Amino acid sequence: GHTRAFIKVQDGCDRQCAYCVIPKARGRSRSRAQGSILAELQALGAAGYKEVVLSGINLPSYGKDTGADLTGLIEACAGVAGIERIRLGSLEPDLLTDRDIARMAACKKLCPQFHLSLQSGCEATLRRMRRTYTAAQYALVVDKLRAAYGGAASFTTDVIVGFPGETEADFCESMAFVERQRFLKVHVFPYSSRPGTPAASFPGQLPEAEKAARVHRLQTLADGVRAGLIGAMLGARDEVLLEKPLSSNLFTGYTRLYVPVAVKAPGGRPGQIVTARLQSWDGERCRAEALPG
Ligand code: SF4
Repeated sequence: GHTRAFIKVQDGCDRQCAYCVIPKARGRSRSRAQGSILAELQALGAAGYKEVVLSGINLPSYGKDTGADLTGLIEACAGVAGIERIRLGSLEPDLLTDRDIARMAACKKLCPQFHLSLQSGCEATLRRMRRTYTAAQYALVVDKLRAAYGGAASFTTDVIVGFPGETEADFCESMAFVERQRFLKVHVFPYSSRPGTPAASFPGQLPEAEKAARVHRLQTLADGVRAGLIGAMLGARDEVLLEKPLSSNLFTGYTRLYVPVAVKAPGGRPGQIVTARLQSWDGERCRAEALPG
C-alpha cells in the first residue's frame, strides 16, 4: 500500500544465545552503510511512504563495525523528506544506553513503541539461555524508556516457554515478570530445538504437550493485559497512518503506540496521517474515528 516500508540495516550477530542458530548461519554483525540506507529512504519518501521500520538481526549492534550508531541513524532518517514516522525492529535491551534513550526520546518522528526482546522473565532461565542481561536489568531499561516518554510509550516482546530445564516455578516467575511489564503485545513461542546449538543437548527437555500448555497459559495472560491496556486508551486520541481501505471511508492502520485500528475517515486516503479517537476494542482492532482538522 506504499505506506510503511521495512529496511534491513544490519545483519548477523556477535552473541551466542544457547538456542540460536543465527550466529552460525549469518555470521558476525555487519552494518549497512548509512548513505545507502538514506538513499533508499529518500526514494521511499518520494514514492509516498510515510513510515519506515528499521530492522536487523541485532539492531542495536548497528554501526559497531563501522563506527556509526543506531541513534545517529534514527536521527539521520528523521531528516528525510516525506518520512513522518520511524519504528524500530527488535532490540536487545542491554545495548540501549541512557544516552541512546535520551536521544531517541528527543526524536519526535520515532514512534514511542519498542519491541524489546525478553525470551524469559526467569533469572535462572535467562542464564541458561546465555542471554546477556538479567530480568532486573531488563525491567530497568523498560522503566527508563517509560520515564523518558513520560509514561506514554508501549512495549512488545517475544518470550520462549519450555526452554530445557524450565521448571513450573521458573515458568511462574517468567509469567509474573511478563505481567508486571504490562506489554502491549507478547509473542509466545514454545522452545524449538535447533540442531547444532548448545541447548539442543541440554538436559531437561520438556514434552511438547507441556510446552503447548505453557504457551496457552502465558498467551492468555498476555492477551488479558493487552485488552486492559487498550481498554484504558479508549476515548483517547492518537495519530493513525491510514493503510488499507476496508471500504470507501474505513481504513486499517496503527497508532503511534502500535494499537491496530479500523478508523472511519471520510475523504481519507492511504498514506494520510489523521488524528483519531479510539472508541472500542473487538480483540483484534480498535474502532476509531478521525477527528476534523
Ligand atoms: S537470539 Fe538474537 S541476540 Fe541471541 S544469538 Fe540469536 S540473533 Fe543473536
